[in-house]
Amino acid sequence: MKNFKQAINLRRIPKEVFRVIGRLEEAGYEAYIVGGAVRNLVLGKDVPDYDIATSATPEEVRLLFKKTIPTGIKHGTVTVREGNMAFEVTTFRVEKGYSDHRRPDEVEFSQSLLDDLSRRDFTFNAMALSKSGKIVDPYGGLKDLRKRILRAVGDADERFAEDALRMLRAVRFAAELGCRIEENTFLAIKSHASELQHVSRERIRDEFNRCLLSAKPSMALQYLWETGLLKEFIPELLEGVDLEQNVHHAYTVWEHSIYSPDNIKPELHLRLAALFHDIAKPRTLSVDENGERHFFHHEVVGARMTEEIMQRLKYDNKTIGKVSHLIRQHLALHLYRDMSDAAVRRLINRIGLANIPDLLELRKADRLASGTKKTPLSKGTKILLERIERVLAEDAAFGLKDLAVNGNDIMQATGIRPGPLVGEILNALLEEVLDDPRLNERDILLQRAQTIYERQERED
Ligand code: ATP
Ligand code: MG
Repeated sequence: MKNFKQAINLRRIPKEVFRVIGRLEEAGYEAYIVGGAVRNLVLGKDVPDYDIATSATPEEVRLLFKKTIPTGIKHGTVTVREGNMAFEVTTFRVEKGYSDHRRPDEVEFSQSLLDDLSRRDFTFNAMALSKSGKIVDPYGGLKDLRKRILRAVGDADERFAEDALRMLRAVRFAAELGCRIEENTFLAIKSHASELQHVSRERIRDEFNRCLLSAKPSMALQYLWETGLLKEFIPELLEGVDLEQNVHHAYTVWEHSIYSPDNIKPELHLRLAALFHDIAKPRTLSVDENGERHFFHHEVVGARMTEEIMQRLKYDNKTIGKVSHLIRQHLALHLYRDMSDAAVRRLINRIGLANIPDLLELRKADRLASGTKKTPLSKGTKILLERIERVLAEDAAFGLKDLAVNGNDIMQATGIRPGPLVGEILNALLEEVLDDPRLNERDILLQRAQTIYERQERED
């Protein structure tokens, strides 16, 4: 434990923090750095924000500092600006009654730091650091941190009954810090898991995102499954538990799904796409007469299921669109025999040039999490990439925006009025240009547009 005290390098703490604490102490109050800042200082990690706890009441804090914002006066929080920094200064408090499993019915200010630490969630979040560098650690947070153990403060059962969000925070901190969840704490989460229903979807989503963006998402996902928490918000993922695949996979669908995010960059849309790319495998499983297992169209069904799940968890439409598109196309970077240049151009049009790098990342993660493939990319995919490069170098058209004419040109040349027909003609032109890039010349296309238009007229 001694090593830890030495490990906190007080010089890493901005002088503004000491100024705020100093001012409070000079006025006769107690004041400490608390919560995540102390934990991160001990671990030598970055500290995004410093929270300060004090015996002064919010009114007393406001009188002491020039620049304050009454952030959450009722809960004891005043934001204090000092230099270029801002700190939440919160009065020591205890909380009482949690009838909604989420928020205390009442908060009461206190004169005791120990009271304040006792309301906090986990031992390593319940430490305080004084200006002189003394660590107040009533629950053994330092030791737990050293051993990488996440443990509830006090009676685990009560703590999760009070506030159901803490269960997700537990899993998230475990994954972020690489901690094992202590047995009693784990069992308490398991018995309260269904109370997650009292937490808003947005909050669940935010914690879940942090689980996915942690160093080891599979650890978070495994805990979410074992505790029963995942069943409360993404039961679809559990359909893959114990579901064996085929010769291409060493793992069950569930295992493959949780290892895939471990193997992709920590960007939210990529981690989500990796997690959900095979979500429809259980629902699309079929076994042929030779006993072979297939998952036909799982990418189509999976894209739809993912949209549903993400809408339920209130993700924004842009992220939902990106993730479901990647899943829909996750098998697309596949070379088949006698693939023509036109087919390669159509492929680029379908997946969108800008999405190719993401799709490649997904492809690699998929293979690395298969347990059977040694290389991140197959020979076929590598050849296809070269083909794509070559086709791109030709400067050909891959989408409507690359055509040498646009809707206005068509309307002017043919005299048709705005409407669906303009789009139909543009699409017909694109099809021709995908087959033969040499046709992408303004004059040729306008002539073709006229012909298509006249043919349409005759047919109608
Ligand atoms: P991070 O900011 O990285 O999420 P943090 O520990 O700073 O980590 P915050 O949510 O900012 O987490 O909360 C600050 C502190 O407040 C925590 O360290 C903990 O002591 C306490 N805390 C936050 N949420 C809860 C909760 N739901 N129940 C009990 N204590 C909590
Ligand atoms: Mg914080």
